[in-house]
Amino acid sequence: MSDTYQALPGQPTSLWLATTPTTDLPALQAGLTVDVAIVGGGIAGLTAATLLKAQGKRVAVLEADRIVEGVTGYTTAKVTSLHTLIYDYLIEHFGEEKARAYGNANQTAIELIASLVKDKAIDCDFIRTEAYTYTDAESDLDRIRAEVKAAQKLDLPATFVEETPLPFPVKGAIRFSNQAQFHPQISAGAGARHSRRRLLYFRAHHRHRRR
Ligand SMILES: Cc1cc2nc3c(=O)[nH]c(=O)nc-3n(C[C@H](O)[C@H](O)[C@H](O)COP(=O)(O)OP(=O)(O)OC[C@H]3O[C@@H](n4cnc5c(N)ncnc54)[C@H](O)[C@@H]3O)c2cc1C
Repeated sequence: MSDTYQALPGQPTSLWLATTPTTDLPALQAGLTVDVAIVGGGIAGLTAATLLKAQGKRVAVLEADRIVEGVTGYTTAKVTSLHTLIYDYLIEHFGEEKARAYGNANQTAIELIASLVKDKAIDCDFIRTEAYTYTDAESDLDRIRAEVKAAQKLDLPATFVEETPLPFPVKGAIRFSNQAQFHPQISAGAGARHSRRRLLYFRAHHRHRRR
């Protein structure tokens, strides 16, 4: 552990895990028959389970530890199509069609999350907001501008800006409008709780506990 890390204030834990109760779901029983068994109760598994259930499938989610405490419990919680700088790279290496498919999938996912939060009335601090990738170095500006151009070519909601809500000046940034953020553990966990009577959640087996 470095001196810098030790000097930081607060607790070295995930805000999402620190502000939600832990779950304690029943262990898997023998003889269960379902249409789909999903291994892993992170946001991917729980979202897949929710969508499959909506299609009328009988679903079991098998989680070795506790739901939404894997990688999902430690995310930055942004729900965005902007991932540092990606679109210029994708167009150059995979072509415009594949880059467009990637961007569209990301935009569709934002709207899917928004509709699930709304339809299930999940109180998970979901808000619409902009997303930024910024630089404070003049030498990065060409890459930022290239990313804006690439994203606009793919009809993504990108603009180049020199002002951001950050409390310090930047040289430039790419801004994506109408993106979102939320509390990932409440969102995915609430989806699970919402569906618990109709879905089946089981701890597959006990692994080493993180706490
Ligand atoms: C630091 C960080 C920041 C991030 N920030 C963002 C962000 O801001 N926005 C964004 O969209 N993405 C972000 N990501 C990525 C995002 O968090 C992950 O892509 C997403 O949470 C992965 O979800 P998952 O359900 O696939 O995996 P997990 O959440 O890890 O869930 C997998 C689950 O499977 C269980 N499991 C594994 N093996 C077995 C087994 N054999 N049997 C039973 N259960 C098993 C695990 O216990 C775990 O609970 C970030 C990632 C990191 C690391």
